[in-house]
Amino acid sequence: MDDTTQRTATTAASTRDLTKTYGSGPTAVHALDGVDLDLAPGRVTAVMGPSGSGKSTLMHCLAGLDRPTSGSVSVAGVDLQDLDDDRLTRFRRDHLGFVFQAFNLLPMLTARQNIMLPLELAGRRADVGTLRRFDQVVEVLGLSDRLSHRPSELSGGQQQRVAIARALVGDAAIVFADEPTGNLDSAASTEVLSYLRQSVRELGRTVVLVTHELDAAAYADDVVVLADGRIRTYLSAPDRAELVAALQADPTVGVAR
Ligand code: ADP
Repeated sequence: MDDTTQRTATTAASTRDLTKTYGSGPTAVHALDGVDLDLAPGRVTAVMGPSGSGKSTLMHCLAGLDRPTSGSVSVAGVDLQDLDDDRLTRFRRDHLGFVFQAFNLLPMLTARQNIMLPLELAGRRADVGTLRRFDQVVEVLGLSDRLSHRPSELSGGQQQRVAIARALVGDAAIVFADEPTGNLDSAASTEVLSYLRQSVRELGRTVVLVTHELDAAAYADDVVVLADGRIRTYLSAPDRAELVAALQADPTVGVAR
């Protein structure tokens, strides 16, 4: 088995010598400056770091929302740089899920309709496998008795759980959650992160959690800390004390606590 095949088999996504530069000459900003990363499947990986450290740029390159300046990105065994824009759009739609800070639910649709919307837009029929996955996702996110509610009839935490269900129901290889608790109070954040972690455990999914909140990262299995577009620290399965110590030991990381 060559190196590439091995990576594909054991990682959900990987980057090699990834760079992203905005502008040129003396004013160029190196948002990513040589990032090598392997994301383990079936786990939550948190991407942390101070504002401007490259978290969003890394997520956008991993998710095919932005093209790197150089280097490679492989997701679910597919090299994204080999895809033209149309194929990249289809790849995103069919293989990736997204959860944002603003829940982005459609107000006139029920929770059930919001969850099923991406599948309908993609023209996928609600076959037996899809319906079974819908039931599993709704169950693990504790939404079974909320499916006929509209977003305005749900709490913030429940709305974000609907958004997570929507991201999971299509069997995405990776779900990207970008500051998913940014609009929630601490009780609702705890609720959402617990459900998110539980879904990863029970459904065997892979989640990339972009966050600047230590409390959110404490729900991750692995933590990547960025500084100035580079990976500063990689912690596998840290406990909270280890995470706090690693972040406190690093003066470049201004993590909100
Ligand atoms: P983070 O998500 O950690 O706050 P970003 O990935 O948004 O960091 O940004 C990393 C660096 O790239 C910052 O210096 C930011 O100002 C710069 N940057 C991000 N997007 C652009 C852009 N579209 N044009 C110019 N500079 C950008």
